[in-house]
Amino acid sequence: MKYTTHSAEETKALAAELARTLTGGEFVALVGDLGAGKTTFAQGFVSALGSSSRVKSPTFTVMNEYKIDRQGGVSNPAISRIARIVHLDFYRFSDEKELGALELENEKRPDTVILAEWPNIFAKDVFKPDVTVTFKHAEGDTREIEVL
Ligand code: ADP
Ligand code: MG
Repeated sequence: MKYTTHSAEETKALAAELARTLTGGEFVALVGDLGAGKTTFAQGFVSALGSSSRVKSPTFTVMNEYKIDRQGGVSNPAISRIARIVHLDFYRFSDEKELGALELENEKRPDTVILAEWPNIFAKDVFKPDVTVTFKHAEGDTREIEVL
């Protein structure tokens, strides 16, 4: 499906829609240039599932983890199985030896959704994406976003 958003808020709302269709255990590849909206999408995704933590770009940390708070009461039973989100960013990741230390295989759990920026660099050796979201920077605040 192809979408057009005109603000960061619209991209977050689109991420929230996708979040509602997942059940846990998925690997979501976020593909697109710098500034295209991948981290913004991750912010919308995490807050839609009920984490109060602020999503920061994992560009320097490679991996950030968000626990889902349940006090909001998620009505969809499938979503309520998602207990954590792992947000990865391989943009600055250059050491293939460090990849083993990340133990990505252990992050792929039925209670976890993995969101990965620049997955084509390293994560593709470990995971095949269940969903690929491609972001294209258009004029101004417009973004063309394809979910496959
Ligand atoms: P990336 O992670 O792909 O490098 P970010 O999400 O960090 O990109 O940055 C996107 C920037 O563009 C943010 O400053 C965001 O507020 C801005 N922005 C403007 N319009 C949009 C839009 N339609 N969708 C997403 N971000 C947008
Ligand atoms: Mg980013």
